Amino acid sequence: MKTGVIGLGAMGMPMALNLHRAGHLYSIWNRTRSKAETVARETGCLLADTIKQLAGACEMIITCVSRDTDVLEIINAIATSIKPDTIVVDTSTVSADTAKKAAARLSAKGACFLDGPVSGGVEGASKGTLAMMIGGEEPVLERARSTLTAIAANIVYMGPAGSGQATKAVNQHMAAGINQAVTEALAFGKSLGLDMNKVVDVISSGACSNWFLQHRGKSMLAGNYEPGFKLSLHHKDLEIVKSMGNNSTGMALPMVEMTLIHYQQLMEEGFGDEDISALFRLKQGT
Ligand code: NAP
Repeated sequence: MKTGVIGLGAMGMPMALNLHRAGHLYSIWNRTRSKAETVARETGCLLADTIKQLAGACEMIITCVSRDTDVLEIINAIATSIKPDTIVVDTSTVSADTAKKAAARLSAKGACFLDGPVSGGVEGASKGTLAMMIGGEEPVLERARSTLTAIAANIVYMGPAGSGQATKAVNQHMAAGINQAVTEALAFGKSLGLDMNKVVDVISSGACSNWFLQHRGKSMLAGNYEPGFKLSLHHKDLEIVKSMGNNSTGMALPMVEMTLIHYQQLMEEGFGDEDISALFRLKQGT
């Protein structure tokens, strides 16, 4: 399918390159045009001047931008020119309500929307091995699936519009707990005077092994907090999780509340654009 990508950030850029390698990339657009120019040069794809131009020319559109308002803004622009039956897959992490609004907006144009948030980090995006959780209509996913396999190794249908984002909220909730556990335990290990690289290696081969420890353990110990996944974006996700807890389930989410406080402090200290592993700064008091 002629596929367009909107949003060439840490995640969208490698997704676009994988779509190109699989022969699907047709057009790209990015707010900061210079990033799109680089990709257009590398791939030979059409660099769209506007979202409207891209949307009118593609059979499938993948969006990957930051926040709820960004997604809705882009869906509105797409809706000005999208053709019936075109499929839009939003891979950003936003609320289930935003996904439902986007689905309704595009349905009014005869087009299709899937919420398809992803997990697997920039490493998974580069390798094309992301996990993708899909909300929307299942037959639409089946039309999109062969193209989506260029960016994701596990694509799972979760239910109607918003179900993908609800699943991603569970993922982001869990990521907060893992970040809390890994950064605090590594700060504790460091305070014991252990050889921390050996600690990461041996724990990574045991029952406490996890993606975050394996991919961010040694970099945080070296004081390298380059994203990765920006702390301010995870803060945005945890606000979504908190509001889902308050509004939908009434469930108390103490780990989410605590992580929001910690991230807020780090953002106020100017670390919002660092990787979420910068929580290690706070745990070791630096
Ligand atoms: P990023 O590197 O900050 O990139 C954000 C992208 O969105 C950029 O291309 C940016 O354009 C574009 N954008 C933001 N606001 C926009 C607007 N109003 N209009 C048009 N374009 C806009 O972020 P990322 O890490 O790729 O994350 C993107 C999404 O994926 C987020 O929702 C995030 O939560 C989610 N996610 C991230 C990861 C991860 O590990 N990084 C993993 C899974 C999911 P400019 O280039 O002009 O700034």
